Amino acid sequence: MGFLERAIRRGVRDGVSNAVSKALQPTVNQLADQATTAAQQYADEVGKSIKICPSCGEGATADKKFCQKCGTALPEQTVSESAVCAKCGTQNHVGSKFCQSCGEKLTDTIQQ
Ligand SMILES: [Zn+2]
Ligand SMILES: [Zn+2]
Repeated sequence: MGFLERAIRRGVRDGVSNAVSKALQPTVNQLADQATTAAQQYADEVGKSIKICPSCGEGATADKKFCQKCGTALPEQTVSESAVCAKCGTQNHVGSKFCQSCGEKLTDTIQQ
């Protein structure tokens, strides 16, 4: 195989792989978005029945009163309820730092 032929082959291969990665890029981003949305929905759903220990960050089911790990009294609110804005009452996504409606800072029990 001559130099020129090798160069052409490499050029074609690079061109193809660039084209492929360009073509795949939006799909990958879309999938990442979908995965993030799915994970967020899952967190919102799970957050309805989960409390987080304010002391050690351990998760506990909503019926528990004390942390199984360190014995600290658990908050009354579930993770989901603690994402409700105290100012305007909007139910925000679990793990949000600020209210999506009015921008009020949320008490973030999930992020230690
Ligand atoms: Zn604890
Ligand atoms: Zn708000």
